[in-house]
Amino acid sequence: MSASVRRFSLFAASISLVDIDYFTDYLLEELLHTGHRSRVDGRNLVLRGSSQEHDMTTLQDRKRFVTTDPPMKKEDLIVITGAGGFIAGNLVLYLKKNGFANIRAVDKKPLYDWYLRVPGVESLCLDVSTEANCRRICEGAKEVYNLAADMGGMGFIERFRVECLRSVLINTHMIDAAYRAGAQRYFFSSSACAYNTLLQSDPNVRALRESDAYPAMAERGYGWEKLFSEMVCEEYWHERGMKTFIARFHNVYGPHGTWDGGREKAPAAICRKMIEAIDTNNFQITIWGDGKQTRSFMYVDDCVQGIDKITHCDELIATPINLGSSELVSIDTLVSKVEKIAGKKLNRGYDLEAPRGVAGRNSDNTFIKKVLVWEPDTPLDEGLAITYQWIQDQYDRRKAGEHVGIG
Ligand code: NAD
Repeated sequence: MSASVRRFSLFAASISLVDIDYFTDYLLEELLHTGHRSRVDGRNLVLRGSSQEHDMTTLQDRKRFVTTDPPMKKEDLIVITGAGGFIAGNLVLYLKKNGFANIRAVDKKPLYDWYLRVPGVESLCLDVSTEANCRRICEGAKEVYNLAADMGGMGFIERFRVECLRSVLINTHMIDAAYRAGAQRYFFSSSACAYNTLLQSDPNVRALRESDAYPAMAERGYGWEKLFSEMVCEEYWHERGMKTFIARFHNVYGPHGTWDGGREKAPAAICRKMIEAIDTNNFQITIWGDGKQTRSFMYVDDCVQGIDKITHCDELIATPINLGSSELVSIDTLVSKVEKIAGKKLNRGYDLEAPRGVAGRNSDNTFIKKVLVWEPDTPLDEGLAITYQWIQDQYDRRKAGEHVGIG
């Protein structure tokens, strides 16, 4: 046996089945891409020159051998994208508080614009819509939480469909990089916008069940991209054996999120308008739509707790699940709640031409209650009072000339 063969044997003996699988996959892919004619014993790969066909057994063989994975250790690497934004920023904080010591937080926003910079977390300013960056950040990751997306409230997703659709680059590169890195678990943040819009044409909407996404008629742009990326997650489990988890978030609100600049959602927008009204002594506000459209709103602490629970429940592998509150309110009611917190009344005007989204949307929590014996349950009054105070603080600091993240 030559020295180099002996060295390779030692190396091979020291790597796990997952590594071998990934390593072999990598070699096979390189061969495919370079157009080699070959037959690789034991994996039934048949390369037929430029046609690059391979038989079904090979597809099965691309699956990882992992069926059970060892529990996460506190020093295992966790990668979180979109961490300069609202939900992922709160997720970083939550995981850090839970003792995870090796967190890599990534966002394309400059670091000074992040809502939250958590001490002791590796924070990187990188664009994850490119393959090279995704591979770089996923290296060594045990768990990957992909929450980066070009998104915003109704005003943004109705006007910037191309931007929303282009998040597909983030989602396809991130999942593949996580798979190649041998990550054990991959979380994807989908949205209630993936549901069939025809079922949401009445404010007294029936709450949406997970099965309501198909037959598909998702929200144009943003919703279709989420639906497609959900399917990508499902197939990375079925064909490749990486454990993927998919939550369909219903409107999330809370501190450390967008509150001005055009991407903010209704709860933050209404809080800010009230604070501005008090500051300028002008109590006239414009509400988008007729105020009768209904939604449910989930407090961000429930959201990050739900992400954790979903990602660690094997019953939910590759199975989209609602993550939302089932407390349905109209936008008019939401305004009344903010009035109560502020102790002031607003003069409401309605802009019927403004983007308003579907007429009604609520989360059916039957499935999550069955599987996790849990559901998001922070009362809207409670979460809204905390959010209002946070936005008031940001508003005052900005007015005093401080730099604060807004969106
Ligand atoms: P957010 O806009 O506050 O955060 C998203 C972050 O992703 C931003 O900071 C943005 O800079 C970053 N990002 C965008 N493109 C990137 C890229 N190419 N590379 C690196 N970073 C990039 O939004 P959020 O409310 O925190 O949403 C997080 C996830 O949850 C998104 O996938 C969103 O679609 C989903 N979601 C949110 C809600 C909600 O109510 N907030 C509802 C449904 C689904």
